[in-house]
Amino acid sequence: MSLALIHSRALVGVNAPQVTIETHLASGLPVFNMVGLAETSVKESKDRVRSAIVNSGFEFPARRITLNLAPADLPKDGGRFDLAIALGILAASGQIDSSVLDKIECLGELALSGAIRPVQGVLPATIAAKKAGRSILIPLANAEEASMVSDIKIFAADNLKELIKLINQSELVPYKAAGLNKKQAVYPDLADVQGQQAAKRALLIAAAGGHNMLMIGPPGTGKTLLASRLPSILPPLNEQQAQEVAAIASVTSHQPLTSWPLRPFRSPHHSASAPALVGGGSKPSPGEITLAHLGVLFLDELPEFDRKVLEVLREPLETGHIVIARAKDRVCFPARFQLIAAMNPCPCGYLHDPTNNCICTPEQIRRYRGKISNPLLDRIDLHITVTRETTSLKPNNKQQQVTSAELAKQVTKAQQIQLDRQKTLNSELDLNSLNEFCWLTNEDRLWLEQACERLGMSLRAAHRLLKVARTIADLDAKPNIERVHLAESLQYRSTKI
Ligand SMILES: [Zn+2]
Repeated sequence: MSLALIHSRALVGVNAPQVTIETHLASGLPVFNMVGLAETSVKESKDRVRSAIVNSGFEFPARRITLNLAPADLPKDGGRFDLAIALGILAASGQIDSSVLDKIECLGELALSGAIRPVQGVLPATIAAKKAGRSILIPLANAEEASMVSDIKIFAADNLKELIKLINQSELVPYKAAGLNKKQAVYPDLADVQGQQAAKRALLIAAAGGHNMLMIGPPGTGKTLLASRLPSILPPLNEQQAQEVAAIASVTSHQPLTSWPLRPFRSPHHSASAPALVGGGSKPSPGEITLAHLGVLFLDELPEFDRKVLEVLREPLETGHIVIARAKDRVCFPARFQLIAAMNPCPCGYLHDPTNNCICTPEQIRRYRGKISNPLLDRIDLHITVTRETTSLKPNNKQQQVTSAELAKQVTKAQQIQLDRQKTLNSELDLNSLNEFCWLTNEDRLWLEQACERLGMSLRAAHRLLKVARTIADLDAKPNIERVHLAESLQYRSTKI
């Protein structure tokens, strides 16, 4: 046969659209043509494929070779098609039995020696191959990562010569996964943070209802420590979530995944540009908010971020994803993260601090706080003040610290109540469900309305307040929101910013 078809997968964002590699051999002067909008790196693969085939002891056909990577309008880059191209040429020239390859998709970069090197984005490709009802053939180094996907035959190889031998002898056997290390995830523990009972309580509420949180306090009060402990009190990732997190790691990292993914904790510096934060580039790549998907995005010194950069967070905070449009591509990245922000109370950081004197003028403080827009603040459910702990130097404080494991139990219980009731966390309740699930007595409603009026609160902020009250009631295992829950919730909205 002089025509061969091999299935492969490109990588666009965190998706893996199908690519079919057609190889045609014709008589005529030996040339090697590649069509189908292949970018420079794919063209380079011609040389790699030629060397790999020859160095594996096979013949590189001295004929007119035409390769078509379809569909043509899909951007393709990287060496991920090398293996599929090599198999196509070997099949078209009759050196391997191509019938085996009908039901298999292939991915892998070739070294000149014929070794098969790992590629990015194997996990999304494996998920897509499973949906298409095919098996997948991948580099051995990526095999553990692919084996996160159940119910699909995975074939793995680390060199072309061995692989062809197995194909021709019909001895290709599925890879047996060692199983990613699923043992209990290890996060830094909340017990490391001395005191700060009020902040820990707020962190518990944030975790239980998926609420965003802003901490305001002088430097050195443990805001970063507290934020970095949030993943430790969230429930462990389930299989579907772990796959989503691993898929993002799979397209961004050059290292194959070797352990079960943890909930991400990302803390970009305040000098981060908008593309670094939300993703971008001429070939769109994910930003920090996508790397924080299903985990925590911590923005320390919030007012120091460029205001325009912060404003782009509004869309993903509402929708849980970000769409990046370019002339050639339009890519959607997942970005369902929990935002934890921290800021000083004033530019010098020591406003109301008993141990230091603040040197800022009221005008400086006003301008500093004005850097954060109200629409962004409205999307942050909990605003808390973190003060300096004067008791934290007491030596026997260690035993009294609440541990992450204790709080995690409360979080899991409260989240289960929410999922049983409304199939989503309280922070994601829409207006209709808010009326349905956040029922108040007439007296409480009046009390809340008056309180909101007194604080000059927007309607959006009042809705957020109700959601937080719902979470506090769920932590209490109460069917209805009571006055005490409302009062605590109000306290997380009364900090003046
Ligand atoms: Zn100051």
